[in-house]
Amino acid sequence: MSVDNAAFRDFRESLERLGIDTPSEVISDEERVRRAKQTFMDKLDGRMAVDLTTCVHCGMCAEACHFYEATQDEKYAPVHKFEPLRRFYRRELSPMRWLFRPFTRDITAQDLETWQELVYDACTGCGRCDMMCPMGIRLSTLINVMRQGLASAGLVPAELQALQNEQRDSDTVFGVGAGKLREVIDRLGRQGIEIPLDKDQAEVLVLTTAVEVLLFSDALAATAKILNRLGADWTMLSQGFEAANIGLVSGDEVTQKRATAKIVEQAKACGARTVILPESGHAYQALRWEGANVLGEVLPFEVLAMSEFIAREIDAGRLKLKSPANGSSVTYHDPCRLGRHGGVIEQPRQVLKALGLDFREADSNGRENFCCGGGCGEYVIKRSAPLRQKAFEIKKREFDETGADTVITSCANCRINLMIGADNAGWQKPVESLVEKVAASLAE
Ligand code: SF4
Ligand code: SF4
Repeated sequence: MSVDNAAFRDFRESLERLGIDTPSEVISDEERVRRAKQTFMDKLDGRMAVDLTTCVHCGMCAEACHFYEATQDEKYAPVHKFEPLRRFYRRELSPMRWLFRPFTRDITAQDLETWQELVYDACTGCGRCDMMCPMGIRLSTLINVMRQGLASAGLVPAELQALQNEQRDSDTVFGVGAGKLREVIDRLGRQGIEIPLDKDQAEVLVLTTAVEVLLFSDALAATAKILNRLGADWTMLSQGFEAANIGLVSGDEVTQKRATAKIVEQAKACGARTVILPESGHAYQALRWEGANVLGEVLPFEVLAMSEFIAREIDAGRLKLKSPANGSSVTYHDPCRLGRHGGVIEQPRQVLKALGLDFREADSNGRENFCCGGGCGEYVIKRSAPLRQKAFEIKKREFDETGADTVITSCANCRINLMIGADNAGWQKPVESLVEKVAASLAE
């Protein structure tokens, strides 16, 4: 249930060093612009063209964005974050380009460098702006095209680039490979928590993430306890356990596809009918919602977030819980890519209800929940720390207003970002994991 403070400190220190030695690709300004434009050209479709031309400048998307809300700085208005893409569309693709071209400045390498901060440091891809736009403009999709364009132009921030290079070249994230996973599994085994590793065939394949292995092994232990209690035929695979997908968040589709393909290949090899994802919002998006599209094939297994799986098992009467006797109060933080993007909103609440906890909804919640401020890989970008801290204050205020003793979430990245914000602010409220809460309440 608790996080090892020394491990958390080590992890924060490792974030300070991340990307320092990452060599940046030498690319001329002309080539950067050419690559970005080519990506824009490849990605823009009819629906995006409509989105790029229907803004009525109402400003509602700004009020939806935690970074604008926290700073009141107009440069953080979502609609501004894809301005170079709009200019590109007007000059090069619009049916009225002959009219726009003389009055619309071409994008430059300097523009791309300026927008790097707005697109990576000041957008978590949370999608809250999409929901608020009265014109139905999918702003986060357009900002993601900006990310993809910047990634192709070699303008991913160094920290994310370091992680992307690592996953692309070594299939590891934060240095966590098969050896480190085995170490943790052996340690849990000595505590009596069995994790079946590398079974040839299994009904259920369970994935984890590097941050779970490094910081939240209690969540991995909790997952094992639940599956063992259910008597599930399950396994983890030392050559296919990583659910994090750095390409999805950096905007590099080659890395995204490679990471997804690796999971799918391993799941097929062990005959899994269900793949359970750990507590990670972007991992859910990468496999559950984008996996089939990225690979161009139907996935031969179901994909469930751990919170979905638990809710289903409780609902079916297979997983029995005892209610906590102390009547502690909790609030729930919806990870954007599980909740707003993924639709996993009711399930964690059903689980919290089944646990008999005094559940208190925060002011923003469910589909309209404010992001933790560090999603989409943003919490690794050192430059964005002051901005993230301002966004954290929104969450802190909302959590405090509930009066709840504990914040529960089901995304390790949200958890880390909230813990970093709390650490900086000297805020004492614990931020805990849903799966750990469930494992601690399994009926005898
Ligand atoms: S997706 Fe989220 S972080 Fe990005 S601009 Fe929209 S509201 Fe802001
Ligand atoms: S909410 Fe929609 S219409 Fe209003 S400014 Fe933002 S993008 Fe434009």
